[in-house]
Amino acid sequence: MTLLNTLFLSSLYDGSPDEKLIIARRLQAIFDDQLPLMSQSASALTTVHPHVMALEQHMQAMGLGQLCSRCAAGAGGGCCSAYMADNCDVIQILLNLLMGIPVTFDHQSTENCGFLGPYGCQFRLKPIFCLNYNCTHILRGVSPQSLALLYQLANTVLRQQAIIEDLLLTELHTLIKDGHIKKDTLQQH
Ligand code: SF4
Ligand code: SF4
Repeated sequence: MTLLNTLFLSSLYDGSPDEKLIIARRLQAIFDDQLPLMSQSASALTTVHPHVMALEQHMQAMGLGQLCSRCAAGAGGGCCSAYMADNCDVIQILLNLLMGIPVTFDHQSTENCGFLGPYGCQFRLKPIFCLNYNCTHILRGVSPQSLALLYQLANTVLRQQAIIEDLLLTELHTLIKDGHIKKDTLQQH
């Protein structure tokens, strides 16, 4: 493994959430040029979109937005704690940027996850742990049918997310090999 490849892997998964966001933004600038040439990745990003929307709509229909807002405002807050922000990685952030989400990170947020916006999580494609998490408040108040549909929709998104992440990793290795990605792009400053 070359030095750049070693640096590449640690840059994707180590570091603070805002360092990962900085690297993801640099990679987005490269992908904006290269994505039209990456037919499989471009097509996978298009394919996942309606599934993400179906999941979001079902979560809204279940009232999860209001439930989580009430919970987050209550004593002890919700589950989107500052600690949870570490579950994100560069590829997952990059995917959201490529889907047109203007991801930001709130450095002032010491208790909540810095990716938590005024209307909930900013991400369309969330860290896997976040998407899989259904707390007791959710499990208590929901019908078995609604919960089954939630799991089904979330699993579909997760399966496709894993495929796209693999595709992007392969593309990134090729971009490094071809000299489109330099050491500076991956360095945490
Ligand atoms: S998922 Fe559960 S614990 Fe987390 S904010 Fe929503 S209601 Fe609260
Ligand atoms: S769901 Fe979003 S806002 Fe909540 S902890 Fe996960 S990344 Fe942060």
